Amino acid sequence: MIMKREKSRLNFKEATKLIPGGVNSPVRAFQAVGGDPIFIQKAAGPYLYDVDDNRYLDFIGSWGPAILGHSHPEVIKALQETITHGLSFGMPSPLETKLAKLICTKTPGAEMVRFVNSGTEATMTAIRLARAFSGRDKIVKFEGCYHGHSDGLLVKAGSGGATLGIPTSAGVPSDFIKNTIILPYNDIPALESILKEEKVAGVIVEPVAGNMGVIIPKKEFIQRMRTLCNEVGSLLIFDEVMSGFRIHEKGGQGYFGIEGDLICLGKVIGGGLPVGAVAGKKEIMSKLAPEGDVYQAGTLSGNPLAMAAGLKTLQIFFRDNVMEKINSLSHFLEEGLKKIQRDYRRISFNVLGGMFSLFFTSETPQNFEDVQRCNLQKFGQFFNFMLNQGILIPPSQFEANFISSAHTENNIAEYLHNTQKFIEEKS
Ligand code: PMP
Repeated sequence: MIMKREKSRLNFKEATKLIPGGVNSPVRAFQAVGGDPIFIQKAAGPYLYDVDDNRYLDFIGSWGPAILGHSHPEVIKALQETITHGLSFGMPSPLETKLAKLICTKTPGAEMVRFVNSGTEATMTAIRLARAFSGRDKIVKFEGCYHGHSDGLLVKAGSGGATLGIPTSAGVPSDFIKNTIILPYNDIPALESILKEEKVAGVIVEPVAGNMGVIIPKKEFIQRMRTLCNEVGSLLIFDEVMSGFRIHEKGGQGYFGIEGDLICLGKVIGGGLPVGAVAGKKEIMSKLAPEGDVYQAGTLSGNPLAMAAGLKTLQIFFRDNVMEKINSLSHFLEEGLKKIQRDYRRISFNVLGGMFSLFFTSETPQNFEDVQRCNLQKFGQFFNFMLNQGILIPPSQFEANFISSAHTENNIAEYLHNTQKFIEEKS
C-alpha cells in the first residue's frame, strides 16, 4: 500500500525554502532513509495524523516526552486551566516548587533541581557545575552518546550527528573541544586508564544509551564508573534526559541501583512542552547563581505551562503505575522479537522499559562501532515499509523507539506482525 502524501510533500517544499532542510531539528528529516518528512496536524494516544489525513501508529513519541501517549486528556486540562492565568511571569511561581519537589522525591541523589528549557541546556549546565565544583577542565564523554548540541559535547555524538555522518560539527573550534575526552561506550579498561592519567572534572554518560539506538551497558561498566569517579574525585553526570521516567521509575539510576552526582533530565518531565533540568546534591547545586558563582539563567525557565504539563504527566505516571504497564508491553514486544529472531537470525534488539531498538545485525550491538556496522540500507527499507503500513518509527538506526502507556498489546502485535512481514519479504 502506498499512502498519498501530497499535502506533506507541498508543505515540505515550502518549508525547505524558509527553514534549513525544511525541519527545525535534523532528526526529523528522512535523509538517512530516503523520502520527505511527513507533516503532522494532530496527535492523540498512540497515533499521529498527517496533513493528508493518514494515521500512523507512533513509536517516536515526540522523541521521548510522550510517556502517556499524545494529548492525554488530564494533561490537556491542566494546561487549559493554567493558561487562563497567563503565559509567563518572569517571576517564580508555585508550580516550579511543586515540580521540583516531585522530581527530588522521586530521583535518587536529587536534593535540588534547576529547570531549564531543553536537554541541551541541562547537560551544558551540569558540565559547567562539574568544572566549577572540581576546579578541573577536562570531561569524559562516550562515543555515540548524545548530550545535546553545545560545542564541547558535539564530538562523536549519536542521534542526528551519527545519522548524517557528522562526527564533529563544523563551527566548533578545536579549542572548545580540547578538554573533551572521547571513549568507547562499555569499555572499562579505557575508562580506568584515562581517569587515572588525567584530571577529569566529570564523566557524562547516558546510563542506558538511546542515541546510537538503544544500548544497555554492562552493569560493571556503570558500577566501575561510579567507583572510579569516587577514587579520582571526578563527578559522575548521568544524562537521563531520555532514560529518566522512561526505563524505570528512577531512570538509569534505579535500573542499575547506582547514583550519579548530577542528573540531567528533560523530555518526560515537560510532558511535551520545552523543559530540561539539572539535579543533584545541595553541595553541588548550590554553586549555581544566585546562591553560588556558576552563572546560568533563562527568560522562560520554569514557564508555568511547561511546569503544569510536566507536573500532571509525572503525577499520572506514578498514580497509574505507568512503568508497570509499559514494562508489560515491552515484555510482550521482546518475546515477539525473540520469536522472529529464532527464524531470521540477521536481526538483534534491545528492549528496556519504554525504549527499544531493532538492529539489522545478528550480534546485539554493545557500542557505537557495532551499530555503525549494522545493515543501514536494510534499515532504510524497513523504515519505509513500516511507514507505508501506517507505522512510524524513528528514521534512523541511531535512534530509540518509544513505547507509551497509550499503546496497547494490539499496537505492539501490529508492529511485530509487520516487522515479521518485512523480514520474510526482504530476506
Ligand atoms: N541528552 C540526551 C540523552 C538526549 O537524548 C537529548 C535529546 N535527544 C538531549 C540530551 C538534548 O535534549 P534537547 O533536544 O531537549 O536539547
